[in-house]
Amino acid sequence: MKNESAKISASQPLDSLIAGKWVAHKSKVSVTNPVDGSTLAQVSSATPDDCLSAVDAAQSAFNSWKATAPRVRAEILRKSFEIMIAEQESLARLITLENGKVLSDARAEVAYAAEFFRWFSEEAVRIDGDYRRAPSGANWLMVSRQPVGVALLATPWNFPAAMATRKIGPALAAGCTVVLKPASETPLTALAIAEIMQRAGVPDGVVNVVVPSPSGPAVSAMLKSDRVRKLSFTGSTPVGSLLLAQAAEKIINCTMELGGNAPFIVFDDADLSAAIDGAMLAKMRNGGAACTAANRFFVHEKIYDAFADGLTARMSALVLGDGLDAKTTVGPLVSKSQQQQVAKLVDEAKAFGAKVVCGGSAATDGSYGYFPTVLTDVSFDAPILQTEIFGPVAPLVRFKDSDDILAHANNVEHGLVSYVYTQDLGRGMRIAEALESGMVGLNRGLVSDPAAPFGGVKQSGLGREGAHDGLLAFLETKYVAGNW
Ligand code: NAD
Repeated sequence: MKNESAKISASQPLDSLIAGKWVAHKSKVSVTNPVDGSTLAQVSSATPDDCLSAVDAAQSAFNSWKATAPRVRAEILRKSFEIMIAEQESLARLITLENGKVLSDARAEVAYAAEFFRWFSEEAVRIDGDYRRAPSGANWLMVSRQPVGVALLATPWNFPAAMATRKIGPALAAGCTVVLKPASETPLTALAIAEIMQRAGVPDGVVNVVVPSPSGPAVSAMLKSDRVRKLSFTGSTPVGSLLLAQAAEKIINCTMELGGNAPFIVFDDADLSAAIDGAMLAKMRNGGAACTAANRFFVHEKIYDAFADGLTARMSALVLGDGLDAKTTVGPLVSKSQQQQVAKLVDEAKAFGAKVVCGGSAATDGSYGYFPTVLTDVSFDAPILQTEIFGPVAPLVRFKDSDDILAHANNVEHGLVSYVYTQDLGRGMRIAEALESGMVGLNRGLVSDPAAPFGGVKQSGLGREGAHDGLLAFLETKYVAGNW
């Protein structure tokens, strides 16, 4: 199903960005097109020493960047937003090529990603402080905010643009300099965004990008360097846990955006058609490869069959194929291993008694695709409900007792987002309060918004990105006790 026009632009940067220079390395990492497994590009693979040079560059640029007027920092972010929007189509195409998601999803990602630059350009000039008399009257309490320092930003492959801008935006707004380490599956988008930021006027050394492969030794070396003061990581819970342990050695300030396992609860009084629309959005954004993806559908028995029929009709109408083709509505997964993992989860669910009502198999055309799948008769204890699927598979569980469903929803180690459909807003708010997740979609299948605090509880992470909270994550609080 290969689209013959799948080629990377001649101006695409392929090397590390260190201290404002594009630096080539001997060793290369191949970037693969998930549509056919072909090599799209060879990107310079940075060694741990190269990565330490990037940290040095960020350290050298830090003092002047933190002293740069907030308005100037804001204008660079604003300009980056404008260029990204002007170049939305070419960036979207690049995302589709290296990640596989369909063009409509990729366009939406570019708009979402650019919005982080606009939002944080507006936040850069709103770094607050406090000035008060001590309660005893003995002195004054003066509180200001200072940038944390050099920030190491590590991002996953599923949102190659948005996860980068969600970190670079607030870091630069706060006055931090950064080393971005994108996933080696999808480094091209991150490199393209760094080049856009250069055109927007970001000074040398403020944004550095390296693509070490393997990642482990390079990230460890940077965390041990004594110069990295902030780690902002988005990725899987096991890798996040590993990096938290490494960051502990130098007491590095951490923000962790980790895996999810979202419940999607449909009560008997839900608006069925809105619930099916929401389910499609919550499940199929990015072909199911989203940390916010609905992973466990709990549907009240009174509307279970109607919901299952409606969802199956929508899922089976999706067209699996090359994300660049206009008729395609779901693209391949990012890699062979991801495809195999989804197939394994579906096979295990079948062995546990689940019925496949649509899909249930991998693409046979050589792509890393998996057909959109609905599983019914999934039992509460099925292992698929305990695992982040990260693919286009919707397991449906029937429930009878509405009082009981909260305990089932909370019965996982993750707590990123939950979805609830009910027309009884009182019930919806009570459930939203009690759900163990950092975010809740109430009669809504999409929660992501640069103006909202995004993040999870339990093993889904620490801290928040987006909103004003996202800026605070890159600031330290300084308190001066004064007398005069
Ligand atoms: P991953 O954990 O494998 O990789 C994330 C990043 O860490 C990549 O840059 C990768 O190269 C790097 N990495 C991998 N192993 C490493 C190691 N040993 N040492 C240092 N760095 C290492 O995750 P992924 O497969 O790229 O992304 C999917 C995961 O990300 C899912 O679990 C998903 O839920 C999660 N995610 C979370 C959010 C969120 O905001 N909470 C958003 C998107 C994705």
